[in-house]
Amino acid sequence: MPITDAREFRTGETMLISIVVPCYNEEAVIDRFHEHLTRELRAIDHDCEFVYVDDGSKDRTLSLLKNLAETDPRVRYVSFSRNFGKEAAMLAGLRYASGDAVVIMDADLQHPPELVKRMVELHAQGHDQVIAKRTRDGDRVTRVLTARAYYRLINRFVDVELVDGVGDFRLLSRRAVDAVLGLTEYNRFSKGLFAWVGFPSVTFEYENAVREEGRSKWTFGQLLNYGADGLISFNNKPLRAAVYLGLLLLSVAALYAAWIVGSAAVNGVDTPGYVTLLVVITALAGVQMVMVGVIGEYIGRIYYEVKRRPHFLVQSTNAVPAAAPLKDQLKDQLKDFVR
Ligand code: UDP
Ligand code: MG
Repeated sequence: MPITDAREFRTGETMLISIVVPCYNEEAVIDRFHEHLTRELRAIDHDCEFVYVDDGSKDRTLSLLKNLAETDPRVRYVSFSRNFGKEAAMLAGLRYASGDAVVIMDADLQHPPELVKRMVELHAQGHDQVIAKRTRDGDRVTRVLTARAYYRLINRFVDVELVDGVGDFRLLSRRAVDAVLGLTEYNRFSKGLFAWVGFPSVTFEYENAVREEGRSKWTFGQLLNYGADGLISFNNKPLRAAVYLGLLLLSVAALYAAWIVGSAAVNGVDTPGYVTLLVVITALAGVQMVMVGVIGEYIGRIYYEVKRRPHFLVQSTNAVPAAAPLKDQLKDQLKDFVR
């Protein structure tokens, strides 16, 4: 049984469940979300805390969160100095969460709060990750088809398995959270990071709700970029593919050269070939540009990694980070080691 001693020891005891919620311009739903969630959580026999991360909202989200924190002592808020993106917001939430298990969910009520109870139950059965998988019922056909094609493509490339419909809505055990926090890379693709961490996991399906208020922050271009990020930030296979494509083109060129030389030897040299030449040159130039682009993508990533900038800056909060950044953890371990 893949259950840790710690978990067996704890089963049946009260746990602290942290709910991490990234919020960007969610003034229209945040109060309703909190009310709905707390109502649902009454059915759970565990303690709860809420970690709301205000990702540099330009509306009243922060002041609403501060109000919530005043009326409900379980509410922690962390506010960024500007918009750093959902990935950074989730990372901050995980750092500031002190629970034995952490549930990550969106503020827009698309992740039904009533599922948290189910997640906690499944966690108690010994699963480190309880993953909610949305069905694509009610989605536009184009969206369903592009998603399907994308996942087929990406799973051919990346080393971890990514599943269509699986997003950030999930419960993570403390050790899974610590493992995710141990991955300090700057370019964070959480879907991949969660899959990389592994541990006993269970997936269950839920019906995705339509967004009640406010708007989705995703434009088509952003989705495209997100897809490319997923592809590139998780493996170096596109580079490998570039090598193979180069080799393929080289062998085609060699065959073609042999054929040209052969036919020149037999028939003598004839001048036409201008069109072929142009097509070949432009095609090759295109292929080269793409490959330079692929290499550039990786170099761009290295560039961001070596800067070692923080993932986010906190401007105001009523909480303290529970998990020290890895650097500090390492420092502590080294201290023991030297002693
Ligand atoms: N979000 C965020 N920072 C951003 C964009 C979004 O923290 O820069 C939050 C947002 O408030 C919401 C969640 O991430 O709680 C998901 O965002 P959204 O609903 O726009 O995405 P979708 O559900 O369309 O994928
Ligand atoms: Mg949403």
